[in-house]
Amino acid sequence: GQKISVVGAGLAGSECALQLADMGYQVVLFEMREKTMTPAHKTGKFAELVCSNSFGSLNPISAPGQLKWEAEKLGSHILKMAHESAVPAGQALGMDREVFSALITEKIKNHPRIEVRTDVVKSLSDVPRPTVVATGPLTHDDLAEDLRKHFGDEFLYFFDAIAPIIDADSINTEIAWKADRYGKGTDDYYNCPMNKEEYNRFIEEVAAAKKIEPKHFETTEFFEGCMPIEVMVERGPQTLRFGPMKPIGLDDPRTGRYPWAVVQLRQDNKEGTAFNMVGFQTRMAYAEQVRVFRMIPGLENAEFLKLGSIHRNLFINSPKRLNKDLSSKNDPWLFFAGQITGVEGYFESTCVGLLVSRFLDQKLKDKSFNPPPRASALGSLLEAITDETRADHFQPTNINFALFPPLAEKERDKQIRKEKQIAIAREALETWRI
Ligand code: FAD
Repeated sequence: GQKISVVGAGLAGSECALQLADMGYQVVLFEMREKTMTPAHKTGKFAELVCSNSFGSLNPISAPGQLKWEAEKLGSHILKMAHESAVPAGQALGMDREVFSALITEKIKNHPRIEVRTDVVKSLSDVPRPTVVATGPLTHDDLAEDLRKHFGDEFLYFFDAIAPIIDADSINTEIAWKADRYGKGTDDYYNCPMNKEEYNRFIEEVAAAKKIEPKHFETTEFFEGCMPIEVMVERGPQTLRFGPMKPIGLDDPRTGRYPWAVVQLRQDNKEGTAFNMVGFQTRMAYAEQVRVFRMIPGLENAEFLKLGSIHRNLFINSPKRLNKDLSSKNDPWLFFAGQITGVEGYFESTCVGLLVSRFLDQKLKDKSFNPPPRASALGSLLEAITDETRADHFQPTNINFALFPPLAEKERDKQIRKEKQIAIAREALETWRI
């Protein structure tokens, strides 16, 4: 069969390679991490999750829930293995990160039609076409330089930060209690309560703490969905309380009331020996993180398995530089998938890998381009990264209802509006013949 090069065995590249191999293509998959690490990854395993261990909501009446429903219909391997490695995480799909990447690595390495190469791809000319580049936000510098030449000034960046992970044995369970918000779910999260004084002192210390400034860049723009807590504190003293530290629905069993603010911890592995701090990505200096986070009631003696950090995140101005099928306007057999196309999030990246496998298959079979229906979540995500009217202020996006086409008739009730949009999306996807 036809040989296809896939560069990067992250979330998008792994999904794309497995899909193409299932279709009967011979895939050569390049993944450098066995020899050359990125600044945020820790292992050589495929589809490693660099920060949170969650694919977001499974609620069927939510945009991320609908995206999962559609990916499942299309036979996403990554989603299937996420379910197989799931940890308790309330309404979210949380995974044991090691079990998850081990499953994917094994599946790929044992696939008869996938050959894995462990070299760094330094230049686009090093790989035969057709090629799918899925090297992610932390693309190796040499290839990033080559991409900059290929795309000119339309190769962009912003910053993403990582949240710390804590050793479960070091959580003070006399103070931190287990519960899900509004008692929904099975009490999967640890909750660390703060009163008003503790909160105020805490945000003062966050504001004063020494921060790591990213090197080589003058401006630091953050993605809104993954903003460091210190940037939230800069926006106002209450921002954290209305964000990751929102206390409502988390009644402290000792008082029967919800506290002034709460820090939530989510189980990070199957054994439950590690918990991550939900929404607590930060670029505070390491020593400062340990000092400031130990001010949180319940975390006085916390042992940190991993501390927060900040990384540059690269992406293409896709509406300007890519065709609708995510191939380069300068090189029609050079496709892109994952975060580098301007989607944001593990599962969004996965879905772009899933789509590109279909688009490449269509092109190789000389079929006309057949994208997912606009009304589906996949169609909406694709539209968000290829709609030319967005090119002037292109910013990465995750899946959300604002990307879906508006309803023909206005609906005031938010819940009913969502239900209607989901129903339309489902019906649309069912009609997609590929
Ligand atoms: P990746 O999963 O990063 O995969 C790219 C792969 O390509 C890597 O394995 C890399 O080793 C390989 N590679 C790179 N260059 C080369 C080369 N030249 N040759 C060979 N191999 C190469 N999303 C979330 O949903 N939740 C989060 O908590 C979250 N936290 C993030 C934290 C940080 C610091 C960053 C940078 C991003 C974060 N993201 C998060 C965003 C995004 O969802 C992830 O980065 C996601 O992994 C992107 O998937 P991908 O497949 O595009 O890239």
